[in-house]
Amino acid sequence: MGPLNGVTVPEAAVAEVRDFILSLIEPISAVEAVPLAAARGRVLAEPLTAPFDVPAHTNAAMDGYALRATDLDPTAPTTLPLFGTIYAGHPHPTPLPPRAVLRIMTGAPIPEGADTVVAQELCHAEGSYVTIPPGQTAGQNIRPAGEDLKAGSLVLPAGRRLTAADLGLASSLGYPFLTAYRPLRVALLSTGDEVIAPGKPRREGQIYDSNRAVLTALLTHLGCTVLDLGAVGDDPTYLLAHLNQVAPHVDAILTSGGVSVGDADTTRTALASLPAFYFWHLAIKPGRPFAFGRMGNAWFFGLPGNPVAVVVSFIALVRDAIRKLQGETPLTPPRTYLVRLAQPLRRKPGRLEYLRVTLDPNDPEGAAYPLPTQGSGVLSSLSRADGFLLIPPDATILAAGDRFPFLPLDGLL
Ligand code: AMP
Ligand code: MG
Repeated sequence: MGPLNGVTVPEAAVAEVRDFILSLIEPISAVEAVPLAAARGRVLAEPLTAPFDVPAHTNAAMDGYALRATDLDPTAPTTLPLFGTIYAGHPHPTPLPPRAVLRIMTGAPIPEGADTVVAQELCHAEGSYVTIPPGQTAGQNIRPAGEDLKAGSLVLPAGRRLTAADLGLASSLGYPFLTAYRPLRVALLSTGDEVIAPGKPRREGQIYDSNRAVLTALLTHLGCTVLDLGAVGDDPTYLLAHLNQVAPHVDAILTSGGVSVGDADTTRTALASLPAFYFWHLAIKPGRPFAFGRMGNAWFFGLPGNPVAVVVSFIALVRDAIRKLQGETPLTPPRTYLVRLAQPLRRKPGRLEYLRVTLDPNDPEGAAYPLPTQGSGVLSSLSRADGFLLIPPDATILAAGDRFPFLPLDGLL
């Protein structure tokens, strides 16, 4: 059963909430042509097929001599006349005559009649004759047409987030542009009477906003266009009016703070009575309160206030929702690998913990050292961390040497 509209679900498992959110979200439909130079990280909207074989012609894998393997004496050096030279980009106009060789450069098309290339450093050229040592293998040093890609084959599926290698492939197939989903427009808003933007003078009791800086970076890293709505105070009426105003212009809205059930939990108060709004107390550490809903055409994500909780909630829930909205498929999870905990640890059960750790670079197996300060507001330990050790909810007594999935922060933050 799904969560109830407007009612906080206690101790919700992160994986279930993630699946619920993903079950509601559909990718945007708008696509655009993107030049290759701007396409890294964009999501491909149409499958890419090879219009021709790559390589298009059978060619030499090294500089050397193209010849017929049957012309060689298998047990003694063979001397053959040099018939000409083939350069890359210049197919030879005539076939290789019997009992002759053609000098050939790497990448040059293999001439008709030749079936083998012998590396030039193995051969001895003198005047217009070349001596080839015995021991050559028919077909060696030749890259067959279509070895990389066959004409008509699927090269990149729709939904693929494009990498540098993908762009090289597209270029090798002659595509100067790719069809990608348009970038998502995401609005960002911080809440809280105490939160002010950096650059302003800070009064007693005020804090500078960290969440917008972190979330802007996380979203732009995913290729989103961020609309910065600034920070608003704890006034639910104003907040709701503000969100309603921006919703028609964006695909998603992310807020931080005010989603718990305290007195000043503005975001929750503003949104709880709307249709299609859901609230959870996630079984996650750091993090806990989380809201999700729909405002017109925009998806709404209400993150907690504490900065590390913001990052963890983003990684655990929002990231995949954004990816799905962007058209990415499949939503492969970030890679984790098992790493030993370097020291014992006791903890309360019940929540999936994203433990900030550093890895010992001198240990080939990379033992994980928990950073001493794990508070949900302590950003410095996240900045110092190499990644998270993911401790399952039921684990209470952890021994040194116990292995847990390690989630590296490279590529995520
Ligand atoms: P809240 O959920 O609104 O009660 O916020 C939880 C904690 O996070 C409080 O200590 C807030 O001051 C802090 N917080 C909220 N928003 C931000 C922000 N944008 N940057 C840094 N800290 C914040
Ligand atoms: Mg607040």
